[in-house]
Amino acid sequence: MKLILLGPPGAGKGTQAQKLVEEMGYAQLSTGDMLRAAVAAGSEMGLKVKDIMDRGDLVPDEVVVGIISERVDAADCAKGFILDGFPRNSAQAEALDKMLDEKRLKLDVVVSIEVVEADLFARIEQRAKETVGGPRADDNVEALKNRLQVYHEQTAPLIKYYGDQGVLKTVDGMADIDTVSSDIKKILSEV
Ligand code: ADP
Repeated sequence: MKLILLGPPGAGKGTQAQKLVEEMGYAQLSTGDMLRAAVAAGSEMGLKVKDIMDRGDLVPDEVVVGIISERVDAADCAKGFILDGFPRNSAQAEALDKMLDEKRLKLDVVVSIEVVEADLFARIEQRAKETVGGPRADDNVEALKNRLQVYHEQTAPLIKYYGDQGVLKTVDGMADIDTVSSDIKKILSEV
């Protein structure tokens, strides 16, 4: 199973991906987590992307396309993988199509998690409070506003992109975590 979780920041992509990892044994490929790990490690890539991420802007496409391309070849992706936070614009979506084609892999489904945006601020505020070791540098009102704007301008058009490909499904992301999770699993069982 190869799927994309699509949705604005705070929609619950990471939470839902984690449940699929535990219950289905798929690998979670979160570009946000991988980039944060690079920042924490102080690698060359991390130094390059830190300020961009703190502002809530997108890091260069070649950085994330490179990470994903390497990552999908790993053994833990054999059962399937969940793309979480990638692709985030149409150039990345096209690069992904090309990459999967070259690797002779096929995307099964794209699940769009729909949420009421006004509620995202409260969710992110809550996450900032609960994060062990202190909040993420981009979990503040200023950066979140920018992340939402970037989402609307660059990521939301992917809903149409995948709709046109005939692989898009939607779930109500305002339901409780377990309901969203079972809705997603139902979709996966039907593809
Ligand atoms: P969220 O979905 O909560 O906004 P993520 O953890 O997915 O957060 O991403 C955090 C930050 O990492 C983004 O704001 C961006 O700077 C960077 N990032 C993650 N994925 C990508 C991507 N596919 N393309 C460009 N930048 C990315």
